[in-house]
Amino acid sequence: MTDALWFDPSEMLIGGRWLRAAETLPLGNPSTGKTIAQIPRGQARDIDSAVAAAHQALSGDWGRMSALERGRILTRIGQMVLERVDELAELEALDVGKPLKQARADAVALARYCEFYGGAADKVHGETIPYLEGYTVYTLRQPHGVTGHIVPWNYPMQIIGRSVGAALTMGNACVLKPAEEACLTALAFARIAVDAGLPDGALNVVPGLGAEAGATLTAHPGIHHISFTGSVATGRLVQKSAGDNVVPVTLELGGKSPQLVFDDADVDAALPFLVNAGIQNAGQTCSAASRILVHRAIHDDVVARMAERYSALRVGAAMDDLDMGPLISARQKEIVESFLARADGLTIAAHGEIVPGTDPDGSYVRPTLLSGVTPDHSLAQQEIFGPVQVVIPFESEAEAVQIANGTDYGLVAGVWTRDGARQMRLARDLRAGQVFINNYGAGGGVELPFGGIGKSGHGREKGFEALYGFSQLKTVAAHHG
Ligand code: NAD
Repeated sequence: MTDALWFDPSEMLIGGRWLRAAETLPLGNPSTGKTIAQIPRGQARDIDSAVAAAHQALSGDWGRMSALERGRILTRIGQMVLERVDELAELEALDVGKPLKQARADAVALARYCEFYGGAADKVHGETIPYLEGYTVYTLRQPHGVTGHIVPWNYPMQIIGRSVGAALTMGNACVLKPAEEACLTALAFARIAVDAGLPDGALNVVPGLGAEAGATLTAHPGIHHISFTGSVATGRLVQKSAGDNVVPVTLELGGKSPQLVFDDADVDAALPFLVNAGIQNAGQTCSAASRILVHRAIHDDVVARMAERYSALRVGAAMDDLDMGPLISARQKEIVESFLARADGLTIAAHGEIVPGTDPDGSYVRPTLLSGVTPDHSLAQQEIFGPVQVVIPFESEAEAVQIANGTDYGLVAGVWTRDGARQMRLARDLRAGQVFINNYGAGGGVELPFGGIGKSGHGREKGFEALYGFSQLKTVAAHHG
């Protein structure tokens, strides 16, 4: 076991108790390919116990707690996360392979979610509705009850912050199934939450395989709401399970997000956003800007300047804290390489460099910038989930919008132009859950509602929208004469 571990990662949290599962799974370090810990392989019976514990919490202290008190606990968790930012960053870097400074930013974001939602807990209000004479009508926002949270491996801390943080704020009791590839910070977060005074059963964490613990959780009749972040293929299964139990589901799925660069853009300002949004977390970001659409008049210049930045990128072990770390696994590396094998006929504008001395068993790939790509090419249509960006030229605003909207996805879009009217037209016309104008925030903005259109999913998390999503509205009509 690694020195960075200050707790036993083979234990899961159910009903306030740390328990061992009947079996464990090895957890790998993507930078070295070595096993760093054993984690629980949660089974159906563990999920049953976690759901039962969550129900018990709702009928106990947690269910009776005021919004103000819940907010205080969230705020306290946020403070304790901040105090342990470096430890959490180290765990995430080891587990996910992201460079330390990126892992640190995720830990700070987790704290920020807890602070934001802690402060918001008593600010979600209902309304009074004028109705018939002799009536008083008002609405109440109440928790769904037990919420299930399925989280992927790419941004565990941020995704736990935005989904579990918001669900707890509204008084739900949560069962969290983190990804089998990376669950250390989920377990660490749970320890911090318990220390901060979260009542038993309000948060239960059961790591395990998707097809076992995950599928049991999403199909469980005791769950009242599901928040799923992951692939489209799994999202489909989760939505079917939710349909069988007739419960609401939020799906945060994949993306093929574009940044559009017009010929009046401030290219100097755009450049760092263009490149970083493609290589951040080795491109394993749902809102990665994997397509760069550039007006023909400045296309060659932008490609050359992006290529210059790509050539300076250095890839190495997470703990070496370079520009990019490894991919999460050998399997993910194979997937990315199989996409690159299809790049025949495209121009490789530039590569980054894997620094000498990296572990040959780590899952490293070079970041790759491709130009000369047509909008219908599979590399311009499918989510690669690796550090590969394609540059596509366009002639007109109408064509740019058509290309930008021309995939199955619709998560985020970025627009670079100084023309105010164009900014407004594109904000309206781009098919995306978020549009950034003269900036690009891959995953950023705790306060900003986030979610997809089309195959990117449905439902919104983050900001106050998440609080509405993690609660249900009840209308009370009182007749008093
Ligand atoms: P994945 O769907 O394979 O796994 C995600 C989670 O689902 C894991 O916890 C996994 O154990 C669980 N799971 C797997 N099979 C399951 C099943 N049958 N029932 C219930 N749960 C199951 O996805 P991945 O490959 O780990 O993650 C990458 C994908 O996630 C990409 O497509 C990416 O775009 C997407 N993603 C989206 C967002 C977003 O906010 N939109 C954020 C991060 C990642």
